[in-house]
Amino acid sequence: MPFPSDTDPDLEIERLLADEFTRQTTGLQLIASENFTSPAVMHAVGSVLTNKYSEGYPGKRYYGGNQVVDSIEAIAIERVKSLFGADHANVQPHSGANANMCAYQALLNAGDTVLGLSLDHGGHLTHGSPVNASGKLYNFIPYKVTPGDERIDMDQVRDLALKHRPRMIVAGTTSYPRRIDPAPFRAIADEVGAYYMYDAAHLAGLIAGGAYPNPVPHADVVTFTTHKTLRGPRGGCILSTSEHAAAIDKAVFPGWQGGPLEHVIAGKAIAFREAASDAFKAYAQQVVANASALANALARNGFRLVSGGTDCHLMVVDLRPFDAELTGKEAQAVLDLAGITLNKNTIPDDPRSPFVTSGVRIGTPSVTTQGMKEPQMDTIADLIARALRDRTDDAKVAAVKAEVAALCAAFPAYPAA
Ligand SMILES: *Cc1c(COP(=O)(O)O)cnc(C)c1O
Repeated sequence: MPFPSDTDPDLEIERLLADEFTRQTTGLQLIASENFTSPAVMHAVGSVLTNKYSEGYPGKRYYGGNQVVDSIEAIAIERVKSLFGADHANVQPHSGANANMCAYQALLNAGDTVLGLSLDHGGHLTHGSPVNASGKLYNFIPYKVTPGDERIDMDQVRDLALKHRPRMIVAGTTSYPRRIDPAPFRAIADEVGAYYMYDAAHLAGLIAGGAYPNPVPHADVVTFTTHKTLRGPRGGCILSTSEHAAAIDKAVFPGWQGGPLEHVIAGKAIAFREAASDAFKAYAQQVVANASALANALARNGFRLVSGGTDCHLMVVDLRPFDAELTGKEAQAVLDLAGITLNKNTIPDDPRSPFVTSGVRIGTPSVTTQGMKEPQMDTIADLIARALRDRTDDAKVAAVKAEVAALCAAFPAYPAA
């Protein structure tokens, strides 16, 4: 049977793919959880591996025909273990959220108590939000950042651990701009007999590149996404000590997932190799240097940086000192019109709702992949400030958009198609 010839009438989807390519490459991509993955990764993700069922693990599959897939998955596992110095790796989680749920299932029973960073202070939905399965299945107790310096308060983590005796402590964040020292969490977990899980979703690329502390020597389990700073295909991964290897593998399959996405796993294998290169080390350092430069330039423009700055790839910006009337929601919408893509974000103890917010989150992984450096960060801060200051003047916003397009044209993410 030939494939039908009218699968994409009037090239409806083809045109939209081209539109999205244009959007990504003519605007500034400042969403901290996004990146540009390599053409080699995209080639793997678009390959015939998407046709294959391979439930199980290398050498232990339910269906036949998995000789090639076994080699690919085994390579991905070896590469990621070596990249992070881990005893065990499971490369099958379809996403970061799945990786977390699998890790919980491997180590916890329903109803167990877990400590995690509060969502509105930089934690993730899968760290016990009541609207997420993690918050329904487990008894999450949130810890918070200190009001004064807006940093994770290890004294509070310890006090809560002693009081609630959690079965697990979760470290790792989605919008926290500062360095997390992985060792003190281990000490507290040991003191109360808890497991220690570190969610490195955002940070995996910085860790791989040596630009952020590696939690693998300290934690029982480290989960992460492969598509954020790590710059691979969209997906998840779990690292663990040998002790938890069997439980992790069982929790992923058959616990949570069916057939693995081997086309994505091939992309992960390529990304793990890329992330082991010297060029990637330089990339990770530049991501952090660019974030510092951008944070400083935004501060000069009258914005307040939550916690006073950044040690990683992202910053959370309090808009109120710049303009008391300006909400995160409005800033996101205006900047979208100016070709600058970022997201609204709560600031710690935000007086506005999570749908409105008083802040935005900004990250430098994508623009750094494009080759931008500190001078361009100054330009970006000025463009953001101008678009927001002149937000009621359509012509001025359009002028910013034209300058954004010119800047992106000088730093193409991909060779022209
Ligand atoms: C992004 C993120 C996740 C979830 O990843 P998805 O691939 O979107 O499911 C989990 N934890 C943290 C800390 C994250 O930042």
